[in-house]
This record gives sequence, C-alpha cells and structure tokens, in this order.
Amino acid sequence: MAAMVHFIGAGPGDPELITIKGQRLIEEADVIIFAGSLVNPAVLDKRKKDSVVYDSAYMSLDEVMDVTIPAVKEGKTVARVHTGDPSIYGAIREQMVRLDAENIEYDVVPGVSSFCASAAAVKKEFTLPSVSQTVIITRMEGRTPVPPREKLVDLAKHHASMCIFLSVGFMDELTKTLMEAGYEPDTPMAVVYRASWPDQKIVYGTCATMAKIVKENNISRQAMTMVGGFLGDEFELSKLYDSHFTTGYRQGKD
Ligand code: SAH
Repeated sequence: MAAMVHFIGAGPGDPELITIKGQRLIEEADVIIFAGSLVNPAVLDKRKKDSVVYDSAYMSLDEVMDVTIPAVKEGKTVARVHTGDPSIYGAIREQMVRLDAENIEYDVVPGVSSFCASAAAVKKEFTLPSVSQTVIITRMEGRTPVPPREKLVDLAKHHASMCIFLSVGFMDELTKTLMEAGYEPDTPMAVVYRASWPDQKIVYGTCATMAKIVKENNISRQAMTMVGGFLGDEFELSKLYDSHFTTGYRQGKD
C-alpha cells in the first residue's frame, strides 16, 4: 500500500451505499479519520485490527493535519472518510492545500451524496421533461455566509429542482424566501431526515406548510430539503423512450 491519503465518500448512511473501492481502502488503511457526526461507523467495521481511528467531529483542521501528515511521512495509508460525496460541503480543498504543501499524494473516491439518497427515499426524478432539467444544490445563509450572487431568493427564481442542504433549522425563513422568489404557496416540498438510515423519516408539504410540519416532527438537523414541481405528478413523457423518437441505438416508428 502506498503512503498517501484517500478522501472517501462514505455515502449517506446505509453502509451498503459506500462504493466497493471506498470500502476496500478503509479496510486497508492504517489510519482512519471519519466525520463521526454523519458517517455511519458501520462502514469502519472491517478495518484492520491495528488501525487507528479518529473522529474529526472533535477536531480542527490543524488537528486533522497533525494526525495525517506524520502518518503519511511514516509510510502509512490514511483514509479520510467524509459523509455522502466529499465534493459537496466536505471541506476537502483546505485539506488538499495542506497536503500539497507537504508533497503528500492523495486521491478522491466519490460517494452517494445525500441529495441522491433523498431522491431515492421519495422515489422521484429531479429532471422531469417540461418540469425541470436542472438541479440546484445549495444552502441557506446561516452562521456561514453564502456568496451574494447565490442568495436563495435569486436561485429560487429559476424554479428548478432544488436540494437545500444544511438548512432545515431555518425552515420559516427558507419557505418565506421561496415564496418571495415566486414559488406558489402550494409548490410541493419534501424533507428527508437521515436518508437511508434505519430511522429515516420523510415529511411532505408545500411552501406554505413545511415550516410547521418540520417543527411538528422535531426535524432540526441532518435533513435534506427538496422543493419543486418534480415532487408533483404533472410532466411529459421522455423523448428517450418515446417509440417515435430515433436515438443512436433505436429507430423511431413513423
Ligand atoms: N457531503 C455530504 C453533505 C455534508 S453537509 C453529502 O454529499 O451528502 C451535511 C448536510 O448534508 C446535512 O445538514 C444535510 O442537509 C445533508 N445530509 C447528510 N446526510 C444526510 C442524510 N443521510 N439524509 C438527509 N440529509 C443528509
């Protein structure tokens, strides 16, 4: 095994939703640093007996690096395990910059993001013909700012399918903003708490009702907020499977 760092997406929770490659690299790692706040510890079950495990929920960037850098320099392999897919709110770039400065090699193994697991939980498709062909992944401005050009009120004007991370605790403001941006009060919404975990909970509502519904269900964290016509039942059939449509693989009927 090469001495390096593997950034690994652990998936949304269900330990069967990690990739085969991510699982193998965890099994082979000497040092494992995982985001214990959201990563299911079951993905670590088959780790080597003598591997050392750290929970990054209790660590700062400096502390993570103080574990990672010496380990790699001693010839060890480090698995840095992030929830969902590491490229989305994973804070991996700042780690990569530190590793670059030390000439430490790393790679990234993607994972199933929670927005995909949430679509699976509600059994819906984000990209419905005539409804929306775009998915917006964003978050509300909370303690951490969002660049001014990406304010929710501006993004919401597109009426695309939206997945709003890290924001279920601000549902009053969130739904008000959506309606300010022109969403009808009856636009469908769904909130998925802990998608793919045994205690997964799904609530359905509209822009007008969702703030009350999440409060009644005590959902204030670890949840995906989804909004858009894709949650409704009106759409056109796809061209891809239209019997009259010719594709590179299939001749359409006249
Ligand atoms: N990299 C992760 C996101 C980390 S940010 C990913 O790709 O999913 C943490 C936020 O992700 C949470 O506040 C919540 O909005 C969302 N999240 C993570 N796991 C989730 C899950 N199992 N179900 C629903 N939302 C989840």
